[in-house]
Amino acid sequence: MKKYDYLIVGAGLFGSVFAHEAVKCGKTCLVIDKRDHIGGNIYTEEIEGIQVHKYGAHIFHTSNKTVWDYVNQFAEFNHFVNSPIAVYKDELYNLPFNMNTFHQLWGVRTPAEAEAKIREQISRMHITNPRNLEEQALALVGQDVYEKLIEGYTRKQWGRECRELPAFIIKRLPLRYTYDNNYFKDPYQGIPKGGYTEIIRKLLEGTQVILKTDFFANKEELCAQAEKVVFTGMLDEFYDYCYGPLDYRSLRFETEVLDMANYQGNAVVNYTDYEVPYTRIIEHKHFEFGTQPKTVITREYSAEWTKGAEPYYPVNDPANNELYAKYERRALEEKNVIFGGRLGMYRYMDMDRVIEEALSLAETELVYCNENE
Ligand code: FAD
Ligand code: UDP
Repeated sequence: MKKYDYLIVGAGLFGSVFAHEAVKCGKTCLVIDKRDHIGGNIYTEEIEGIQVHKYGAHIFHTSNKTVWDYVNQFAEFNHFVNSPIAVYKDELYNLPFNMNTFHQLWGVRTPAEAEAKIREQISRMHITNPRNLEEQALALVGQDVYEKLIEGYTRKQWGRECRELPAFIIKRLPLRYTYDNNYFKDPYQGIPKGGYTEIIRKLLEGTQVILKTDFFANKEELCAQAEKVVFTGMLDEFYDYCYGPLDYRSLRFETEVLDMANYQGNAVVNYTDYEVPYTRIIEHKHFEFGTQPKTVITREYSAEWTKGAEPYYPVNDPANNELYAKYERRALEEKNVIFGGRLGMYRYMDMDRVIEEALSLAETELVYCNENE
């Protein structure tokens, strides 16, 4: 008999949702994380009375009512709607691409005028079957939007030319012919009052958590304590990069407390010009309509990932997906190790998708466990 049913590597959202469901089913779990806090990348910390998103802006949005009801058990959500501003040189635009943006770009006022303008630009491109992000963007919104709002930001964010990136990335952004600055299409959206860390803390009630513990430095000893491992770290690192390393994008965050009440008047401002070294500035208090006397801002810089750096984004281009498939084949042969989350599954997943995946694993895994007892 081992001490725990599950060793869960990673106290992020995936690991915490799975741990919660397992504990509900009477299982014992040990959650470890190499960081000194729970929450993974959704970790928030209070500074000057403001919930600071330590690893970048996190806005919860989903179309899945089950997921929305699930998170609402652990927090009350406010009515924040993400409406970023884009700064391109000395020009300001609303995002996502909508009638406000088109009016700012071309002075057009009606959807028919905007559609005609975009259609005319698209027709010049002769792109029938977009093969990459550049072609996809040009085929969707034409040259002007691409040059001012997409090209520079994307090159900074991914450290690659747009034609070297998969088309799906740009499809994350809505394009609409209404005056609607809501960045997301989902019916449910908000920021948890009191921060995301509180959600994770509640999810982990009843679970033993050990922080500042790297799985790889203590592998044998940790594995010996549990029947099964749920691993939410990097899949390629788990196999000691035996087929070669997968690519990730890393980030650097520069956070400052400013002695003023309002710095930029909006939670998220994107800098779409390639010459500005950061991709975006977030002003945390606006996520929660804060009225504190001071403010906290974070500049987000994108960076090349190298071994030892934090891997924030998987780079799901064809070459990396092919390499991932090799690791995945090996992972599927494991009897006592399950891989999950953004890093374990090497997928650019938002929080709602991560919850769906963790709940789906819990459903199959925990039923299976119970049947075998
Ligand atoms: P993680 O949060 O990465 O957790 C994995 C944990 O495993 C980490 O804590 C890590 O320290 C730990 N770990 C890894 N390796 C080891 C090891 N060897 N030993 C011990 N511990 C280990 N989603 C949205 O829905 N809305 C947004 O607005 C949004 N904005 C985002 C902005 C940024 C900048 C980023 C990077 C992501 C954003 N996301 C957003 C996505 C969201 O962060 C993820 O969906 C979610 O955090 C993934 O949870 P996870 O548990 O899979 O991974
Ligand atoms: N993007 C862009 N301009 C912007 C914002 C986003 O070109 O002002 C592109 C960029 O390629 C980015 C992708 O759209 O990687 C997805 O943006 P999203 O805001 O969803 O990225 P995330 O918040 O996950 O970093």
